[in-house]
Amino acid sequence: MAVDQLRADLLKNYDPLFVGGFRRLLDEGYRFENATHDHAVTTTAPGHTTLATGVHPTRHGVVGNSWSELEEGRWRNVYSLQDLDTEILGYPELPGRAPTNIYRAGLPDWIVANDPASRVVSISRKDRAAIGLAAKAAGDVYWLADEGGEFVTSDYYHAEYPAWITEFNATTMPLVYSDSVWESIIPTTALSLTRPDRSRFELDGEHTVFPHRASETVDASDPRALNHWRYEFTPFPDRAVFALATEAIRELQLGQRGSVDYLGISLSQTDLIGHNFGPRSREQLDNLLRLDVELGRFLSFLDEAVGPGRWVLGLSADHGVLDIPEHLAEQGVDASRLTRSDRRQLSRSIQDVLDNVDDEDEPAEAVKEAVLSLPFVAAAYTFDGVEQGQAIDSFQVLYGRSHSRTRIVGLAARSGVYARFGPNVLESSFLRTSHGSPYYYDRHVPMIFLGGTISAGVSSDRVATVDMAPTLAWLTDTPAPDDLDGTILERSLRR
Ligand SMILES: [Zn+2]
Repeated sequence: MAVDQLRADLLKNYDPLFVGGFRRLLDEGYRFENATHDHAVTTTAPGHTTLATGVHPTRHGVVGNSWSELEEGRWRNVYSLQDLDTEILGYPELPGRAPTNIYRAGLPDWIVANDPASRVVSISRKDRAAIGLAAKAAGDVYWLADEGGEFVTSDYYHAEYPAWITEFNATTMPLVYSDSVWESIIPTTALSLTRPDRSRFELDGEHTVFPHRASETVDASDPRALNHWRYEFTPFPDRAVFALATEAIRELQLGQRGSVDYLGISLSQTDLIGHNFGPRSREQLDNLLRLDVELGRFLSFLDEAVGPGRWVLGLSADHGVLDIPEHLAEQGVDASRLTRSDRRQLSRSIQDVLDNVDDEDEPAEAVKEAVLSLPFVAAAYTFDGVEQGQAIDSFQVLYGRSHSRTRIVGLAARSGVYARFGPNVLESSFLRTSHGSPYYYDRHVPMIFLGGTISAGVSSDRVATVDMAPTLAWLTDTPAPDDLDGTILERSLRR
């Protein structure tokens, strides 16, 4: 299970407020307090695929949410989980989705290889999360289609929708998805733990206080607009994900047939709310309290349907997040965002170098020197340097794990250079805040194991998200390949 953008300290800060699933994870689970993604490009598709495969992005191939590829001398943009030869069932106008670009099998594949009767299910609001958690495995993989109104899959997974999915979309979705107002459920005594609700840093700077009403920002009489509002700005889609996961367990008898089954779940709304309102917002706390309740219900359902001790859960996140830079700056922290003029300056300095080199020259070294002279660039690494492994600093190692020569990610990368911006510098110029950097705030995530014979505990060992898949494999007696980047966290979890 992944909670999208759940930076590890958020769970810690709000610990006393949790009464549901997070409570159970914190009290009964075994948690690693120093878990990180050990790659540089900390975005959603790489994060999920890393959790499922046990190798770094440079090896599973999903080095970014999207990347540039050179095709017959021209750059084209490629979405990580796109496959234009596949079709989204019922939405032929949408581009196809499949794990074609993932190089490596992962935990769900290993489970099926070990027992062909095993089933694989993966569910999220986001296609890149649902597919990433399923690695290469075929199975029941569902995500919410563009306006967020119903769960879909592609013909990579199914030739047509199973009846229970059609039924779920028609009858359950309207019920779990009915709200047009988002009210706060934060207890009054906890309000002081967040930033004040009214804030010029949030959303459009105007619609920043509870209750949030669809009618204030969209035409709420238009069902698509209403779904879009829920999809982008509220916690509600996660409720739909839990409802479908519950239905999948019932319908497919997951964990109830004498085989090990795999269920991947990614909860996306923490990410959307983080981007729009910031991790320290009242909205994010409210969202986490709702998630806590939903997760609590789901774990109780697992006990009922599968049986206590007969399921095991590994929970983590695909990346962390930077606090809203303007909010940090107000608190006296050195933080800023890359402006349009910064971007222009960056591409101009790269272009200057490229205009002045011979065709024979390898321009990367010169580009590196040029971008290093820009005030917002903290360091730069050439592809050659990254591949030769003569690390300038530890960040270069992280870039090496996100590296690809054919799938190009990063503002200077088309010229063979990774530019690292300063800490607390937000690369996005339009989002309130984001993630994607190699800094600790973007890499530090929870890693908690619960269920089976795991007993409560806390470890401060340095562990990494590549350890998730081999550890879950070990916990379920599933043979895993021996060339993984991650290791089994056996010493801590051994019964
Ligand atoms: Zn994400």
